[in-house]
Order: sequence, then structure tokens, then C-alpha cells
Amino acid sequence: MLNCQTFIFLPFFVSASVPSRFDLHVHSTASDGLFSPEAVVARAKARGVGGLALTDHDSVTGLAEARQKAAVEGIAFVNGVEISIEWQETPIHIVGLGFDAAHPELLAGLKTTQDGRLERARRMDAALAAVGIVGTLAGALRHTAHPAQISRAHFARYLVEIGLFSDMGKVFGHYLTPGKPGYVPHRWARLVDAVGWIRAAGGVAVVAHPGRYKISNRQMRAFLGDFRDLGGEAIEVSSGSHTPDHARHFAQQARRFGFHASQGSDFHGEAGVDLGGFAPLPEDLPPVWRLLGW
Ligand code: AMP
Ligand code: MN
Ligand code: MN
Ligand code: MN
Repeated sequence: MLNCQTFIFLPFFVSASVPSRFDLHVHSTASDGLFSPEAVVARAKARGVGGLALTDHDSVTGLAEARQKAAVEGIAFVNGVEISIEWQETPIHIVGLGFDAAHPELLAGLKTTQDGRLERARRMDAALAAVGIVGTLAGALRHTAHPAQISRAHFARYLVEIGLFSDMGKVFGHYLTPGKPGYVPHRWARLVDAVGWIRAAGGVAVVAHPGRYKISNRQMRAFLGDFRDLGGEAIEVSSGSHTPDHARHFAQQARRFGFHASQGSDFHGEAGVDLGGFAPLPEDLPPVWRLLGW
């Protein structure tokens, strides 16, 4: 009997003692995710995620709701945001973690980055109408409760909804990326701004999914050097948008530049990588949560 109990309970004991997976890159309806902040946290809990950062694009409006729900569910939570920047004409995303979400400099900076999303969306609507696809702004707006946060993702969902393409990736490939008819550039923040706002608010700046940017290895090294010189402290090594090769490559870059390593699914609610669904970080790299008090 004793042996039997040991057999049954040991696996439970072992899994409970293994550190839970932290997901530090996640979206909600506060930007272009499909789940409310509360629903994201509930799903994280159900999937066994032990710590979460909600990182909506250029917005901190979902954090209070998520934090409250995380306390109820008993999982760790840190404030997060994903700031859209442009570095040498390349759009790049910088995640901020563990900052004071009421910090005036950060809030003012996020507002300047957000302002203009709706104007860009109007221009996207006109650009798509010019190639015969009309009514896209009205359609995209039906996919968000926050018009000021309107994103290319909302346009892509609408174009999938009306059957133009079977998935969002195809919409981006044909219409919403540079050189394509519905692409309208936007004046995003600069690297120095994003890192500065995050640090002013007491947070840690992290390069989001570095494997996704269409720049050469040499440019990437220049970018990572600039990021470090400005006070950036971590890069995402394990990401829902990374292949195993990306993860190996950026683990090497983290060692080279002395960055902490971060990890996150970049969950938006669509099919694909779910919360906590990524490989563990290499053990020799200092994880970013050491800087977050976890
Ligand atoms: P925006 O911030 O308005 O420029 O929109 C960028 C967002 O579109 C990203 O945060 C992703 O959520 C989404 N996105 C970008 N590229 C793709 C793609 N190829 N497939 C699906 N979603 C994408
Ligand atoms: Mn997004
Ligand atoms: Mn991103
Ligand atoms: Mn993201």
C-alpha cells in the first residue's frame, strides 16, 4: 500500500517541485490579442504557467485587470509592455518588464507611440480601397474594443473573416507588409526613447523575438550593441516566434553581449503557440526573472 501511494504521488511531487514555466510575452484585447486580460491569466493558470507578464503593444491598460486575476489564481505577475520602435528604418519591438505602470514618462511615451494608429488605419483603408478592397477600416474596427489600438492584426482578421485569404500570414504577405498595397508606414518611437521610458519607470528592457527581424547578422550585432549601450539588459532567446536555430543563435548573442535571457510565447489567442509553449532556456544563461525578483 505504501509503495503504491509512493508510486502515485511521486510524479505529482516531482512536477510540483520543478520551477513552473514563466511566460513573459503575451497579448490581450488591450492590444491585438483575442482574450481579455482576465481570460489570458485564467488560461495561463490552466496551462500550468507559474508566472506571467502581459505585454500588450504600446499599452498598459490591461495590466490592472490581469494583476488582480493573477492574485486570485495564485500565479506570479509582472507588468509588461511591447513597444514598437524603428531602428535604422527597421521596425523592432522592445518588451519592458517589471516597471511602474503609472510612471508619467512611460505613459506619455506610450501615448506618443499610440497616437497615429487610427490615422494610419484610415490610410490603410484608403490604400486597400485603391486596389478594390473596400470597407476594411470599418471591418477591422469590429475586431477591437479599443479603436486607438487598431493594428494591422485587426485588418488581417477582417480580411480572413470575409474569406479573402485563409489565414493572417497570407494577408500580411500579400497586403500588409512593406511594398504591398495595404502597407502604410508609421512613425514609431526610437530605440533610445523606448529603453529610456522603460528604465525611467524602473523596468527591464528586453529585445522581443530577435529572430523575426529582416536584418543581416552584422546589423543585428550593431543593433544589440546600441541596445546594450542605452541600458538594455535582456533578449528573448526562447520565443514562440523562434525556430530552434534562432534560439541557439540568440543564446550565443546573449552570452556574447552579456544579456540576461527572456522567454515568451507571444500568444495572441490564435492557433499556434499557446501560453507557455516554448523550449526552456539554456541553463548557463542568467534568466531575466532574476532581475524581476522571482
Ligand atoms: P502593427 O503593430 O499594427 O504594425 O501590427 C503588427 C502585429 O501584426 C504584430 O504584433 C502581430 O500581432 C501581427 N502580425 C505581424 N506579422 C504577422 C504575420 N505574418 N501573421 C500574423 N500576424 C502578424
Ligand atoms: Mn501583435
Ligand atoms: Mn512583436
Ligand atoms: Mn508580441
